[in-house]
Amino acid sequence: MNVPLLDLKAQYQTIKDECLEVTQEIYESQYFILGPYVEKLEKEIAEYCSAKYAVGVSSGTDAILLSLMAAEIGHGDRVITTSYTFFATAGAVSRVGAIPVFVDIEPDTYNISPAKIEAAIKEMPGSVRKTLKAIIPVHLYGQCADMDRIIELAKENNLVVIEDAAQAIGSEYQEKRAGSLGDFGCFSFFPSKNLGGFGDGGIVTTSSKDQYENLKILRVHGGHPKYYHNQIGGNFRLDALQAAIVSIKLKYLDQWTKARQENAQMYNSFIKEAGLSNKVTVPFEKENRHIYNQFILQVADRRDELKDFLIKNNVGCEIYYPVPLHLQKCFADLGYSTGDFPVSEYAAEHILALPVYPELREEQIAYVVDQIKQFYA
Ligand SMILES: *Cc1c(COP(=O)(O)O)cnc(C)c1O
Repeated sequence: MNVPLLDLKAQYQTIKDECLEVTQEIYESQYFILGPYVEKLEKEIAEYCSAKYAVGVSSGTDAILLSLMAAEIGHGDRVITTSYTFFATAGAVSRVGAIPVFVDIEPDTYNISPAKIEAAIKEMPGSVRKTLKAIIPVHLYGQCADMDRIIELAKENNLVVIEDAAQAIGSEYQEKRAGSLGDFGCFSFFPSKNLGGFGDGGIVTTSSKDQYENLKILRVHGGHPKYYHNQIGGNFRLDALQAAIVSIKLKYLDQWTKARQENAQMYNSFIKEAGLSNKVTVPFEKENRHIYNQFILQVADRRDELKDFLIKNNVGCEIYYPVPLHLQKCFADLGYSTGDFPVSEYAAEHILALPVYPELREEQIAYVVDQIKQFYA
């Protein structure tokens, strides 16, 4: 049996006619950038995320970059974020000239630890603390970070909160949607996300009218009116084609999310039944709507050998992420070293993502678990 990590072809077959129809319409119109399809998607996503507004952008990375720019975070400022996430979260901070301040994660959810954020702020000398401007929590793998405590800390210290919700569309924290919790919510339509386009794309949510207007201006080089620049923005525009495809997919998102959650439950029970609970730990569901962008196993030992074994037996799997951000070469000048964030370092060496996409069949999940069992036999 073959179980790829992700199979987008199966999903495409179910929406093919709708996609071809809208694509052809856009080709005929020759109207490709922003416009009515983008505006329609912005309204739909704002509503889906319980935010007042949304601004379609060129990628999830640009969503973070644009939010930082809108919050006027720049040279010499500091931004707290997690040491265990996709590179873009911290890359965007450096690209606006600010300094990422890494904080370790919780061992059960892999999300940034509020207690460690608090400790990091306390430890800062006054002069450094004055430069601290924002926190970027990441809702990793599809589960929200502990936002109440994070927002409380942000309020106490006058910090902007930018949610990196690239993996978490529709995810909930205490019945509130990702993207409605902080000042900005950043989403990605990269094809492997739960709501992916046919290329790159992203969106920023906000409930501030002023920031909504500001984001739209910065998206087009900061020109307002056109060709008159009071600030420097960039080209962060979303294509009509991407917006139209994402709008179509949004109608099916809840159904796909439900299938992912059911697949996760199936893994949980098959792993238990197979007596593997002492070898691998299944995800800890802390918040009430985990949308399972990834199904992450924690593997006590021989993780890399297990990965090779699964791949050899046609099971797609991947390590998200093998190097915590504080140990990336490009951040060497920040002065971190091995041992600084032990929970992130442990995760990097012990986690393994298994296929969890909606179209996965029960026998495929059974096969994956059976292969894990055979590896340990
Ligand atoms: C995918 C992802 C991004 C970047 O999104 P792109 O659309 O690929 O630029 C940022 N942060 C996290 C946590 C992601 O998973």
